[in-house]
Amino acid sequence: MQILADDDWTTFFSESLARDKDHIRWPGLHLGTVLDSIEQDLGTKKPPKGDGSRDQWDTTRHSYIAGGFIWEHIVEQVMASQLDATDEGSIELVWCADCDVVFASDTIGVQWDLHGAHRTLAGNLDGTMLGDLVEYKATWKRLMHSGPTDFRRWIMQVKAYLWLLSRYKNEIRTIVDFYIWGVAGDSYGSKTPKPMVRHWKLQFSPEELDAHWRMIESQTNQRELWRVKESS
Ligand SMILES: [Zn+2]
Repeated sequence: MQILADDDWTTFFSESLARDKDHIRWPGLHLGTVLDSIEQDLGTKKPPKGDGSRDQWDTTRHSYIAGGFIWEHIVEQVMASQLDATDEGSIELVWCADCDVVFASDTIGVQWDLHGAHRTLAGNLDGTMLGDLVEYKATWKRLMHSGPTDFRRWIMQVKAYLWLLSRYKNEIRTIVDFYIWGVAGDSYGSKTPKPMVRHWKLQFSPEELDAHWRMIESQTNQRELWRVKESS
């Protein structure tokens, strides 16, 4: 045997996937920026090193993101066909604070003319199936003995998504299905951790969702995030 190549393809691999992911995004404020700000105030997130741009990311981070991308975008389609469900796919919903309306950004050309100078907040929903919100997540955190409250960021995300979805669909949506791939799921730190997949179906009250959205609004106003340009 001759070894003809032995290269590290991690960065190439994950950057190729990231390129696919690039699509036209709404130019206003994005929910991720608000959640980052909340987490920094809570002390649960370290501020990004450098300017946080893509070239500051290290290989490990690229690799994690590649895993998450595969799970969230490719498995979603496979699962939808297995479950014989209608997969509405990813959808970006945009709330305009000035007009207090929610619309989908696939009408971006038209909507930009109407809302261009307005304050808008966009959230990117992974998918909706069977009328409910569906989130596909990948994590390296131990999953066996974890509960939904161990994943504060995800919960904050989906509560905001449900609020946006309710407004957009004009009917209350309170339920989310999580399909979580725990890469080192059953025994983090052990020599032979086994991956696992968990399903959580969670319901929130409409009051909870309203309160959460008011919190997002007040964070956005207090930290003057309307001025922030989306960085990622
Ligand atoms: Zn507007």
